[in-house]
Amino acid sequence: MDKQQEYVLRSVEERDIRFIRLWFTDVLGILKSVAIAPAELENAFNEGIGFDGSAVEGLTRVYEADMIAKPDPATFQILPWRGERQGAARMFCDIFTPDGEPALSDPRQVLKRTLDKASQQGFSFYTHPEIEFYLFKQFEPGQQPVPVDRAGYFDNVPRGTAHNFRREAITMLENMGISVEFSHHEAGPGQNEIDLRYADALTTADNIMTFRTVIKEVALEQGVFASFMPKPLFEAPGSGMHTHMSLFEGDRNAFHEAGAELGLSLVARQFMAGLLRHAPEITAITNQYVNSYKRLWGGAEAPSYVCWGVNNRSALVRVPAHKPDKSQSARVEYRAMDSAANPYLAFSVLLAAGLKGIEEGLELPDGAEDDVWELSSAERRALGYEPLPTSLNEAIQVMERSELVAETLGERVFDFVLRNKRAEWESYRAQVTPFELETYLSVL
Ligand code: GLU
Ligand code: MG
Ligand code: MG
Repeated sequence: MDKQQEYVLRSVEERDIRFIRLWFTDVLGILKSVAIAPAELENAFNEGIGFDGSAVEGLTRVYEADMIAKPDPATFQILPWRGERQGAARMFCDIFTPDGEPALSDPRQVLKRTLDKASQQGFSFYTHPEIEFYLFKQFEPGQQPVPVDRAGYFDNVPRGTAHNFRREAITMLENMGISVEFSHHEAGPGQNEIDLRYADALTTADNIMTFRTVIKEVALEQGVFASFMPKPLFEAPGSGMHTHMSLFEGDRNAFHEAGAELGLSLVARQFMAGLLRHAPEITAITNQYVNSYKRLWGGAEAPSYVCWGVNNRSALVRVPAHKPDKSQSARVEYRAMDSAANPYLAFSVLLAAGLKGIEEGLELPDGAEDDVWELSSAERRALGYEPLPTSLNEAIQVMERSELVAETLGERVFDFVLRNKRAEWESYRAQVTPFELETYLSVL
């Protein structure tokens, strides 16, 4: 038993923890949980806990249904919403096959594998997500969602629901060791944003999973409903999860070079070039639902074209304002990803795309100064700004041919995602929508 495991055992006893929830994530990014009693903990660390993997999306093929979850003691946290006495705690798990091999279909291990690859090249990967989401009044299934307020960007709503909500959610997150950097009302009615502090990508992905649970819990407690759906309202902006990224070599930010243009090193420029080159083929992962494309092509500051810019909100990759005195803050922001992405898989493909740019020494094209949305399609073509996929169908078609995505996800996850997403597209495509009835029924 190592020191971290001992610390967990001691905390469970001292803090009167009654249930330990073992958390892991399915291939679509949905959190799964199994609770064990404190007496099982030692066994969970040594042997892992067996469960039937066939019940979990994408986790196993039918003939290898048994899976083992092994908790990572570094992720032990008490769940504040379960109360002080006889409380509950959680740990994230890695999933193994009964033979003790890492499960090929565990998204957390896909990310670990990709991080290992980066570390063989001397890099560690840091991310900082800006997570947008909506708060709605409670509603019955099938009803139109009604936002909790009519406020907009950075509005301070006196005694507003959102204000109390953010305060409560942030306190809870910080109690769980997740630091919050900013929070504010976003542009849509009832839309909010909370930005988590920079951390290594594995910690950030775990934090995003925790964040979604905390937000849902606080919403329930306050009698409202929280949603990370990419585009819940036709007439209001969607919910993005802009992700700031940088590579570190030891303690040094490898994206920074003093005196260079925008303070960006060659490594940063090649990383950005890799992101741009591979953006269309990774979009089915960063934007994985039919609904994701309503956001990407719905205006309202969501990027639709592949280009980069400095403080240009119409660009896919943005370089935030350069702070010459803060060399460690050099980073690039990827704006396509939405709040419903599986963070483990999305960080994996973003990192792989960037690393590919470095490996191949790709050259960064010129940045976009124009508002890309305002240009004509001929102008955009002349400038070489390719569109992102316009639908899940297109995104799947580009991803199917992608060696980079196949290699990064591994064959098992790659096949599962393709199968699952094709089925989603097919059932969506077959619908007769309210739009069609309204447009055609009485006229035709
Ligand atoms: N909500 C916008 C999006 O869908 C982003 C707004 C912003 O710039 O923060 O990406
Ligand atoms: Mg925002
Ligand atoms: Mg942003």
